[in-house]
Amino acid sequence: MDLGLRGKIAIVAAASKGLGKAVALELANEGAEVAICARSAANLEKASAEIRSRTGRGVFAKALDVTDYAAVQAFVAEVEKRFGRVDICVTNAGGPPAKKFVDISVDEWRTAVELTLMSTVFFAREVLPRMRKNRWGRLLTITSVSVKQPIDNLLLSNSIRAGVTGLAKTLANEFGADGITVNNVCPGYTLTERLGELADHLAKSAGASRDAILGQWAAQVPIGRVASPEEFAALVAFLASERASYINGVTIPVDGGWAKGLM
Ligand code: NAD
Repeated sequence: MDLGLRGKIAIVAAASKGLGKAVALELANEGAEVAICARSAANLEKASAEIRSRTGRGVFAKALDVTDYAAVQAFVAEVEKRFGRVDICVTNAGGPPAKKFVDISVDEWRTAVELTLMSTVFFAREVLPRMRKNRWGRLLTITSVSVKQPIDNLLLSNSIRAGVTGLAKTLANEFGADGITVNNVCPGYTLTERLGELADHLAKSAGASRDAILGQWAAQVPIGRVASPEEFAALVAFLASERASYINGVTIPVDGGWAKGLM
């Protein structure tokens, strides 16, 4: 199936590693021009080199923190200047720390709101007016299955990602008539570098092996294993494409059936 992504201009935030990088790679593979950002220039260079060597396509990369609004504004403006427009934007950031309610300070709440909610607002503010001008656009927010089923100890994720989900749903209503769709994608356990490190950390404290920890997570999933980042990226590329023109305002988990609710 031709997704119709050839020549589309796509921004992927927080894309030097993990899910963001896998999404950028998938979009480039489908023929999109990709612009990525993350905090570390060195990691961005590594990701760009990998995308270049695996797809044969150039990548525009900029080191920035997604919580810095001025930097996000400058990045989006630069993408538009280089490529002429912005068609697709995938928002993403690192995850907030796992803690119980009594252990989270007010400052930690504020930091997590900046990282998870405000970074999404920043990209939405910059890309949606540009997409509206072109009468075509795709905004995709990366959240977590925690918006379908809260996860113990992940208070910050459970609370603030629900805000991102409400934002995405409302933007879908406001911008649908402009040829723009807004959808929310929710990874479940997905074997990125970060999840591997988390498994190593838990394995060390439990005196178990990494495989044993991954096995415990896999056992919670009807499909019986954790996902690969490519399995997540495939959905994002589809939703970003011409083929997904009538899918708007939805929240879709890629979790192997982990979330137990009906909807
Ligand atoms: P990761 O740590 O592998 O990658 C995160 C990326 O974000 C990196 O490129 C990092 O440099 C970048 N980043 C982090 N903070 C940033 C900031 N402030 N500004 C700019 N760039 C920043 O993580 P991942 O596994 O790819 O997860 C991506 C998101 O999805 C996270 O929010 C995570 O909590 C969430 N999530 C992941 C899983 C999973 O199993 N991997 C499951 C549910 C939700």
